[in-house]
Amino acid sequence: MYPSLGYAAHTHTSPLVPFQFKRRELLPTDVHIDILYCGVCHSDIHQVRNEWGNASFPMVPGHEIVGKVINIGSAVTRFKVGDPVGVGCLVGSCRTCPECQDDLEQYCDHPVFTYNSPDPHSGGNTYGGYSDNIVVDQHFVLKIAANLNLAATAPLLCAGITTYSPLMHWQVGAGDKVGVVGLGGLGHMAVKFAHALGAEVVLFTTSPDKIADAKRLGADSVVISKNPEEMARHSLSFDFILNTVAAPHNLDAYTALLKRDGTLCLVGVPDQPHPSPSVGNLIFKRRNIAGSLIGGLKETQEMLDFCAKHNITSDIEMIPIQQINEAYQRVLKSDVKYRFVIDLQSLKAG
Ligand code: NAP
Ligand code: ZN
Ligand code: ZN
Repeated sequence: MYPSLGYAAHTHTSPLVPFQFKRRELLPTDVHIDILYCGVCHSDIHQVRNEWGNASFPMVPGHEIVGKVINIGSAVTRFKVGDPVGVGCLVGSCRTCPECQDDLEQYCDHPVFTYNSPDPHSGGNTYGGYSDNIVVDQHFVLKIAANLNLAATAPLLCAGITTYSPLMHWQVGAGDKVGVVGLGGLGHMAVKFAHALGAEVVLFTTSPDKIADAKRLGADSVVISKNPEEMARHSLSFDFILNTVAAPHNLDAYTALLKRDGTLCLVGVPDQPHPSPSVGNLIFKRRNIAGSLIGGLKETQEMLDFCAKHNITSDIEMIPIQQINEAYQRVLKSDVKYRFVIDLQSLKAG
């Protein structure tokens, strides 16, 4: 077992504090990773605060992990010591069900999430990336190209794949008008991807001070979503809208903007349900409301390779781990440009 240091929450109301635990000995297909950087996802905050009702403590959050391989099990073929690698939201799945066979491990009925999930190896819970090292089966480890900045790559492991996967599934490309709702960690990646795919991109925000950034990131135009006249100007015009908002809100304002057969895809997971959407908005134009969960391992690798080719990474604010509790407060105020990334070197400072 490897003695390990991280930051954990011990209850849903207490701040994250230093926490010692152990990682398992390497199994033949395991990769041992020295964690360099870990992104701070809004899902970390939902889970630490038990907003999804599934929290188990102590909880070491973090599922946007990048680091370097420090050791490999005897049967590992895909990685060698020194490789830059990533780990996202999944560290296990059954590997045999139809979803796993289709490279859609995120939809497996027996997923093992990177943290706050029963750990079949330890019998306890999984512990995530706000820590100095992690041991992960090679199937759930991603390769990172040498040209990508490692710290700015960390958020791709969740915010990146969660926005890339629906854009791929709904085949967004040139000629499409695409909306992105919310300019946070997920939203700013969605704007970059939709722009790189050649779509016309409209960003919906509640924060007027983000307009210039949205355009710099690739939005063709920006709508202040609280302004009904600005919203109405886009009625019946969108092929696809990706909604990343982490709070309940009126979805009718967005379904009304879709063309016939258009889709509003929800990826934000608020703690309370959205108000019920109007059926009329859906049936009169055969519009769809859908959802999407992260992405499978194959597609996550494709997304990282797409990013390497198009030189896409996240816009980040780097923090030492000691500032994690303040960072959570800023995320809750929609005040992050546009993802906090923890420099895990700071753990050594105590
Ligand atoms: P984030 O950085 O906090 O961004 C969310 C953005 O939503 C904010 O920046 C803000 O953008 C907007 N917003 C916040 N409160 C709002 C409100 N009351 N009304 C309207 N807009 C509001 O969060 P994130 O890390 O991108 O995560 C977003 C959500 O996706 C979370 O619920 C998270 O749990 C979920 N998530 C889902 C998946 C999945 O697989 N489906 C994966 C990862 C995360 P503006 O300032 O531009 O309005
Ligand atoms: Zn996440
Ligand atoms: Zn499965």
